[in-house]
Amino acid sequence: MSAELLRIEGLKTRFFTDEGQVNAVDGIDLAIDRGETYGIVGESGSGKSVTARSIIDLIEPPGEITAGEIWYREPSLAEAIADDHPDAVDGDRVDIRRIPKSIRRTLRGSNFSMIFQDPQSSFNPTITVGEQIAEAVEVQRRASATPRSTRARTEGYSLTSMVLGSVFSSRRYVSPESRERAVELLELVGIPDPVERADEYPHEYSGGMLQRAMIAQALAGEPDVLIADEPTTALDVTIQAQILDLLDDLQDELDMTILLITHNLGVVARMCDRVGVMYAGEIVERGQLADVFDDHVHPYTEGLLGSIPDLEGARGRLEPIPGNVPSLLDEEMGDRCHFADRCPKAMTDCLEHPPEYDAEGSDHHTARCVLAERAYDEAQALPEGYFGEDERPAADKHADPDAAGPGSESAAEATQGRSVEETGGDRT
Ligand code: SF4
Repeated sequence: MSAELLRIEGLKTRFFTDEGQVNAVDGIDLAIDRGETYGIVGESGSGKSVTARSIIDLIEPPGEITAGEIWYREPSLAEAIADDHPDAVDGDRVDIRRIPKSIRRTLRGSNFSMIFQDPQSSFNPTITVGEQIAEAVEVQRRASATPRSTRARTEGYSLTSMVLGSVFSSRRYVSPESRERAVELLELVGIPDPVERADEYPHEYSGGMLQRAMIAQALAGEPDVLIADEPTTALDVTIQAQILDLLDDLQDELDMTILLITHNLGVVARMCDRVGVMYAGEIVERGQLADVFDDHVHPYTEGLLGSIPDLEGARGRLEPIPGNVPSLLDEEMGDRCHFADRCPKAMTDCLEHPPEYDAEGSDHHTARCVLAERAYDEAQALPEGYFGEDERPAADKHADPDAAGPGSESAAEATQGRSVEETGGDRT
């Protein structure tokens, strides 16, 4: 595995709603290596999309990142800002949260890019697909030509284009070079007849083709990190496979790092090197793919795996996880294990919030569960109905922090909570 590219420490993202503080992301730690595909998996409303949006600085009021560091290894940026912002630099790494917003904005698209689950809502229906991708290229080229640029991507960008680009907005002037690059990107993502297709409007594309076009747009700035938020959820199963193959190929070709957000364990199994299982704003189990799939410790991970449809029928009926994802309202979260009221192995020990334990025999597999430390003790088991209906979080009352923009999980899904059984329609 190559060098660590991104390290997130203690990330907390809150939404300050009329009903109270929603702890959408509650102290996440994450380390992602260059060139790997890291998966974050969990039910709708677990905080996956908010985590992704926090990394790329797309949290808007009433949301706010209230704590944490996001260290990004980018030597040229570290060198460029070391004198002005020494607190934000550690060797060749930069804490994205501590750099000024103006610089942070330049990283979006050029160093970090994001693709969403619904390409229809990401494209303007009145502008051709090629033009919209060319605009994205133009924006990145101009950003690269500024003194604060972190990388030079101005090759092939003529002096005339640079001068015109500095006078007009990208909407009013898109250089011929950017249009050419847009066609190249469409070709890269496997759009047939890209020259002709570039002149077509979004409604003339099929769902799969539009998803490819959105990936092309995300690649406009040649990002280091591509965040893919449920990139295949809106697609037919056969098209899903094509898009995953495409992401795989692009990663090899462009040496990209991918953070894959999904509720689909089939996608994780196919794509990821490592995985973090997310529940109620926390990563409750993490490790190499084999650790989490074959040697999982956390009952929630077990529940997710038990709810994957088994086409051969070897496992018999699906086993849905009972109950709903809990309320993330600060006043209702409590100090117990957040999964306790759905957990078949809940014990009196679980009435305290568990720390992250190393799973036995591994220094890279952890679980936020007492079972990583001790065996299940029936004598200590909480009686059935211990968490009565009245004590159960009223999950349907609260605003959905993940519904912050395109590609996010819907308010209904997160606030009412859905069992994995109910989300099974788009699993592979
Ligand atoms: S800490 Fe207890 S309640 Fe929570 S997942 Fe582990 S066994 Fe279940």
